[in-house]
Amino acid sequence: MDNNEKRMVYTQFIDGALTAGSNRESWINYNPADNTPLGEVYQAKDEDIEAAVNSSEKAFHIWRNKTGAERGRVLLKTAEILRYRLEQIALLETQDVGKPISESLAVDVSSAADALEYFGGMAATIHGDYVDLKNAFGYTRPEPLGVCAGIGAWNYPIQIAAWKAAPALACGNAMIFKPSELTPATALELAKAFMEAGAPPGLFNVVQGDGRVGAMLTGHPRIAKISLTGSVPTGKKILAGAANQLKKVTLELGGKSPLIVFEDADIPNAVSAAMLANFYTQGEVCSNGTRVFVQQQILDAFLVQLKERTEKIRIGDPADPDTQMGALISKAHLEKVSRFIDSGKASGATLLTGGIRPEKDFKGRDITSGNFLTPAIFTNCDDSMEICREEIFGPVLSILSFDSEEEVIARANNTEFGLSAGVFTNDIKRGHRVIHQLQAGTCWINNYNITPIELPFGGYKQSGLGRENSLAAIQHYTQLKSVYVELGNVESPY
Ligand code: NAP
Repeated sequence: MDNNEKRMVYTQFIDGALTAGSNRESWINYNPADNTPLGEVYQAKDEDIEAAVNSSEKAFHIWRNKTGAERGRVLLKTAEILRYRLEQIALLETQDVGKPISESLAVDVSSAADALEYFGGMAATIHGDYVDLKNAFGYTRPEPLGVCAGIGAWNYPIQIAAWKAAPALACGNAMIFKPSELTPATALELAKAFMEAGAPPGLFNVVQGDGRVGAMLTGHPRIAKISLTGSVPTGKKILAGAANQLKKVTLELGGKSPLIVFEDADIPNAVSAAMLANFYTQGEVCSNGTRVFVQQQILDAFLVQLKERTEKIRIGDPADPDTQMGALISKAHLEKVSRFIDSGKASGATLLTGGIRPEKDFKGRDITSGNFLTPAIFTNCDDSMEICREEIFGPVLSILSFDSEEEVIARANNTEFGLSAGVFTNDIKRGHRVIHQLQAGTCWINNYNITPIELPFGGYKQSGLGRENSLAAIQHYTQLKSVYVELGNVESPY
């Protein structure tokens, strides 16, 4: 690296402090907007993982003996710190991920704080049941699991870290978090905020590195649970790696979700949702509705509006508050998404608009050094095309037309994924009827990609195991102990 430039050093955060760790293996983290180096990331080694587990175990024994109200106060204070530092952390996220600053401010950091507030508020209410058994009674205790590991994807780094840490810590666990090797920055900010809020050192440790670090966490005998946000292939590896210890696993994985627009839908709203479902965060969103099924009668009107509005999306410098679409995470990912666009064209779909690398942004600035791609819409698609079957994880929307309700339900469900689904209709009965038949864990009627902390989030089929957010997350970070208490004599045949 050029020593004259001031760059970040992304290290481990263990036992309450940043530490270089034991490894000299490092790599450069690049800004997707122009591929300039942001800093140097240090890969954690075995010794660092051991140090993180030891420190987290220590913190766990302190933390589990606190009351729920005490734990909740630390989470609420952490949320307050994140909100106070909103602008600084949002800018870090934007530089790391390439997403528009307007999104990082409104969604990424804010939704991390939402999770801490939700689970912080709930911590004091987590309780078991009392069961009357005549001459005896029973009660249950939801007890923490121990040291849990979180492994994150690169598209929503601080949100993913907080969605895992908040319920884990509220339930009395400690967490070791590994961000994606491409986005090492903001998990460290979350770790600092926890410490400043009064969490014991080690309660939330961060280890940096690639899949090898994730595999070390998965195989570690003193880690009780793994929660992954990532792709289906990684989910399968983690499940296999966790199997011989029967370790608890939560998997938030990818998708190829359907968004179904019926002929009676409000077209401008449905177009807004289709754009949100495909172009937010440059299309790098797991729950995206990338297969947009439009009923034949309204197809032409829908496409006119969709094309016109998509071509007005302001692509450019992610740090500019007027930018609406930023840069893809890496050059390699840009090439992968571009290959899907080539595949769509080669398979006979019509590229209605987009799919090219722009030279200038919406203010006329040169953006050729960044990983930019104009939002692409394919029409004349067929369910069997690669672009309609595989997760692209970029700004590529495929339009599929349909005639009947029965037909579209069958086609929407014809996938190994089951993360999300959306339906647009003004017929209230049809909306519910169709949603109830779709094989997806996270669904919307007349909107798309809204993920309030109060609602469970997760997938059916190969899109995942378990749920994040809401009350449902509690059962994934606790284990239930049943206690039988005798009030009479022991009845024995002996
Ligand atoms: P990925 O390649 O599966 O990586 C996810 C995380 O797993 C990264 O931290 C990765 O490390 C780590 N990892 C890789 N191999 C591992 C192994 N053998 N054992 C343990 N950990 C391992 O996914 P990604 O490219 O970062 O993210 C995109 C994917 O995430 C998409 O499929 C998207 O749909 C999904 N996603 C799902 C949700 C959801 O909530 N359902 C949300 C966001 C994203 P390195 O990458 O650092 O090597």
